[in-house]
Amino acid sequence: MAEKISPGMQQYLDIKKDYPDAFLLFRMGDFYELFYEDAVNAAQILELTLTSRNKNSAQPIPMAGVPHHAATEYIDKLVNLGYKVAVAEQMEDPKKAVGIVKRAVTQVITPGTTIDHANAVDNNFLVAIEQQEQRFALSYMDLSTGEFKVTVLQDFSAVVGEIASLKAREVVIGFLLDESQKKILDKQMNLLLSEQLDLPETLQMEHGDLSAIEEQVALKLLAYVKRTQMRDLSHLQEVEHYEIKDFLQMDFATKTSLELTVNKRENKKHGTLYWLLDETKTAMGTRMLRTWIERPLISEVAIAKRMAIVQLFLDHFFERSDLIEALKGVYDLERLASRVSFGKALPVDFLQLAHSLSNVPAIKNILELLPQEQMKQLIERLDALPELADLIHQSISEEASRTITEGGIIKTGYNPQLDKYREALENGTSWIAQLEATEKARTGISTLRIDYNRKDGYYFHITQSQLDSVPEHFFRKATLKNSERFGSQELTEIEEIMLEAREKSSILEYELFMSVRDQTEQYISRLQALAKTIAEIDCLQSLAVVAEKQGYVRPVLTENSRHVEIKAGRHAVVEAVMGAQEYVPNDIALPEQTDIQLITGPNMSGKSTYMRQFALTVIMAQIGSFVPAESAALPIFDAIFTRIGASDNLISGESTFMVEMSEANHAIQKATSRSLIIFDELGRGTATYDGMALAQAIIEYVHEHIGAKTLFATHYHELTELDQTLEHLDNVHVATLEQNGNVTFLHKITEGPADKSYGIHVAKIAGLPSDLLERADLILQKLENKPLPAKKVEAQEEQLSLFDIDENYSEIIDKLKDLNVDNMTAREALNFLWELKDAL
Ligand code: ADP
Ligand code: MG
Repeated sequence: MAEKISPGMQQYLDIKKDYPDAFLLFRMGDFYELFYEDAVNAAQILELTLTSRNKNSAQPIPMAGVPHHAATEYIDKLVNLGYKVAVAEQMEDPKKAVGIVKRAVTQVITPGTTIDHANAVDNNFLVAIEQQEQRFALSYMDLSTGEFKVTVLQDFSAVVGEIASLKAREVVIGFLLDESQKKILDKQMNLLLSEQLDLPETLQMEHGDLSAIEEQVALKLLAYVKRTQMRDLSHLQEVEHYEIKDFLQMDFATKTSLELTVNKRENKKHGTLYWLLDETKTAMGTRMLRTWIERPLISEVAIAKRMAIVQLFLDHFFERSDLIEALKGVYDLERLASRVSFGKALPVDFLQLAHSLSNVPAIKNILELLPQEQMKQLIERLDALPELADLIHQSISEEASRTITEGGIIKTGYNPQLDKYREALENGTSWIAQLEATEKARTGISTLRIDYNRKDGYYFHITQSQLDSVPEHFFRKATLKNSERFGSQELTEIEEIMLEAREKSSILEYELFMSVRDQTEQYISRLQALAKTIAEIDCLQSLAVVAEKQGYVRPVLTENSRHVEIKAGRHAVVEAVMGAQEYVPNDIALPEQTDIQLITGPNMSGKSTYMRQFALTVIMAQIGSFVPAESAALPIFDAIFTRIGASDNLISGESTFMVEMSEANHAIQKATSRSLIIFDELGRGTATYDGMALAQAIIEYVHEHIGAKTLFATHYHELTELDQTLEHLDNVHVATLEQNGNVTFLHKITEGPADKSYGIHVAKIAGLPSDLLERADLILQKLENKPLPAKKVEAQEEQLSLFDIDENYSEIIDKLKDLNVDNMTAREALNFLWELKDAL
């Protein structure tokens, strides 16, 4: 039989009912307690001691607790692991409560809404998705910076691509997912899925031009955030529409294989394009650069604008150095603004804000030294918020402590009343010093001193041995082991004045601080705009620094051209890692008429590197960066598709070949004549003829129906003959140097097809045993004497017989012809077979 539930537990259960998917932290005195399953699970995850409530009853309730002062740490840990945490606080002073203390959830912290990560620079995007018939809408928000955007997407794979590129950890689902959608988001992408199927009718949102489905998804996102955060969100920016079509499109596979912002090995920044280009000095700049790399531009004008400024920064070394110094003094304005909005800003945050603002005029002055139309726009947007700077400068003390309850926050001179209290406190201090001296002289107690503590207030400290000399007008306040504490009429009077001043001044300081906070809130949107401008300046100086350091050139981009000509190009990241001396530069030329370049060459010769080099150069150029080359002329591409390497798609668990084919399909379906396609060893994942046939058919298809600029690396040398039938296809190969049976890879791309594969040479480099290598050589010679599959796949040409190409076989055939099988003994037949085999 169920026992009667205590009123406290009933309150817990009532609250928990509304938060079934979250750990409920239930404030009880100095602890947050967890109960039931929450307690069992949290105890395991957080290594807490699991105890129980009602220990001796028939049904003890599992319980675990964390001390309130350490709660943030535990909450962070849970949230980082992908859980939600609901925090229920005591809503009234327990001492004054009648019956059970009122409690309510004051915030739900989720992976997509947490903003308290100490010193994290990265964005934390929370995404919401909505489906209407075949269309999708996606909205995302970073609660820590206030960024809020929305777009429409045509298919679910685009949705998945956006979520991945935003690196979101939590997705708010606005519709009922079907099984396959659920599987992808939940199982494969390991996202926390939070539902927001309905919309509160009262919810309102300001926005510009949005379609109905966009408004719907943005509202659902907002509803979810309001529901979980339960606090002021005044820093949220107006939701802004964007189009993925306005940027160079790259799907998730492409971004991953090109290692744009995270490397494949550890999912970290190191060794990526982002890593290479990041010389930013501000947190906003660092975040913006990542977005630039995820979303290169496609507008010639917009790209030219960025490049013009990079050029200016490049040309003005001293101004740039000063600029960099000034940028270093700018803190994370976006995060500071959101802390203000959340009411979480501490005195130190205001000091950082003021310090940042004080650097803005310097930045402005430096930019003004660079006369240029584009600069002018940036300069105009640089708003130093002098009113806010003044406010903080006048109100917040440079020595302010990190807390807001200790006092000492507000500067003297800011508020006359506060100054009076402070004067009283100061006077009191000297009165006390005087009183101490007077009483010391009067009583003759040399060790007499006046001390203060919270419990006893001000008191005369008298040691045991001096007790006899205590005068009449002292009264006892407390007795300790070796001393006693006394008061006096005079001391009490001073104390009262001081206590009042102290109490009132700390209340007043708090009020003044709150008012500074409130006043600052009015500047949030201006602060956010300033943050964006500074981020942009920071990104551009970063690109200039890298361009100078790595010796890049400004590419010439032409929107409507189809002409690619890169002289002495390099792979930006490989070069940076291996050193410029080691890297062999390569020209890349695809004139107007050439769509497809077929690249052959031995393994490890540099085919993949060459192709990636091209893709990265295109991306860098469209970001507005200079590029690693002696010169570069490029069209502006609308999309990049890649099928690179034979690595399995781990998240989906599909087989290599299936992944290859679906990526190839994606490219073929979506690419236009303005796209760039990179196919690396396509067809490798299946049987040779199968793969070769598909590879050829795909090349022909791209050639006939798409006309995208395409680099196709292959180990099927047979495909090189395609240049005879396909007008827009060129052969290139990676040159090798063969000397005394040793092969050196020159990593140099050269016209025409390659003639040999040097796989055995690679095996030799890899250190395989020499007799094994000899054997491989022998097998190779035999195989090479075998006919290869038909170049143009025509039926009759495939009827080639095993023996008709090599003269060595003719002897064997002659012998076979001469043979009189009827006259042979079994032994002779066997011997003859051996003979044949040996000859072969
Ligand atoms: P492939 O695709 O032909 O098998 P890769 O492009 O993977 O060859 O290159 C193999 C290795 O050769 C790379 O790891 C790289 O270190 C080196 N390499 C490739 N291209 C160059 C180059 N242009 N200069 C110097 N080293 C290169
Ligand atoms: Mg390769």
